[in-house]
Amino acid sequence: MSSRKHHLFQQLPVDLGNLSLSEWPEFFDHLGIDGSSRQKVFEAIFHRHVSGVDEIEGLAGRQREELARVAVLLRPGRHELSRSMDGSFRLTLQLHDGHLAETVIIPEWSDGELRKCSASISSQIGCFFGCSFCATGRMGFHRNLTTVELLEQVRQAEQVIRTEFDTDMTHLYFMGMGEPMHNYRAVSDALRIMRSDAAPGPPHSRITVSTVGLFRQIRMLAQDHPEVRLAVSIHSADQQKRYEIMPVSSRLGLPEIRDAMAWHQRQTGSAPTVQYLVMENVNDSTDDARKLVAFLGDLRANVTLIMYNDVPEAGLKRTEREKIEAFRALVEQAGYPVDIRWCYGEDIGAGCGQLQVASCQDRVSFSIRHGLKTDRSR
Ligand code: SF4
Repeated sequence: MSSRKHHLFQQLPVDLGNLSLSEWPEFFDHLGIDGSSRQKVFEAIFHRHVSGVDEIEGLAGRQREELARVAVLLRPGRHELSRSMDGSFRLTLQLHDGHLAETVIIPEWSDGELRKCSASISSQIGCFFGCSFCATGRMGFHRNLTTVELLEQVRQAEQVIRTEFDTDMTHLYFMGMGEPMHNYRAVSDALRIMRSDAAPGPPHSRITVSTVGLFRQIRMLAQDHPEVRLAVSIHSADQQKRYEIMPVSSRLGLPEIRDAMAWHQRQTGSAPTVQYLVMENVNDSTDDARKLVAFLGDLRANVTLIMYNDVPEAGLKRTEREKIEAFRALVEQAGYPVDIRWCYGEDIGAGCGQLQVASCQDRVSFSIRHGLKTDRSR
């Protein structure tokens, strides 16, 4: 076998948790591991969550040796679970290279009943896009999370939810640290794996992927995962202003983003959520609200206004509640349903735009920058 010459075997060992699903057939063909044995490996990793290649059962002796020679499975372990005074949790997983991936778990109560229990997972360590309001962006980009690292956040969050609330995870959001669409391959593979009841996570219709507007990936998501919901962070419908707070906007024109959202809506039949982080004297005027309405036009969309958590390094402040309410009224009058997200988890550094970073190897914290509908009438 000439496996060492094949591009998949250039860098050994291969992390099976980071192998693209599209590369699985080729990879295992080169190892001489056939379809049924391949399926055993798949189920061991993604359904039974084994912690190493040596725990994969059902392989012939020679197959096991070949796999162990070239492959490893780098699964994260639990590092810490913090509870906020408001009832949310921050779950921190330690990755094999010392990075920390953070997941936020948010229970939502109404009239004493737990009506929703969601998790928001990270997709990258740091972020490439450097939005001015987000301390994660100032960390720079370190790496993408692997498929197994994404799914492990979901699985461990499910365990926390069962232990703490004796219920299942109702909703899952790809809205933590990083831009999920910038790690599309692993996110898409994780979504594909989650189609199986044997894998962790809620049904696709209760999963949302957010983006700053990577329009090519918005179209890919509609094609690959039509039941998955889309959330787009607009934050300003003025191209220049958006560029100033989101430098990535120089490559993401608002018209192209809107076209992709409309296309997504036609393909999937579902209305995207438009997320808008409201910042004092930046994007919170009535003129800003009118521009948002003009941007939406005839698009069916739900709008989530997110109350900004003060991040002193960013020099940005939270808008007064009255002003947010006025913004909401204007958008609602134009016919769009609006939720306001009053942040969770500020005391554990898990609120909107919050971040606590000692060093990227040491304390990588979290920015839930996107809207989770809330009801705090517990
Ligand atoms: S808001 Fe999102 S895209 Fe922007 S820097 Fe933060 S994590 Fe990255």
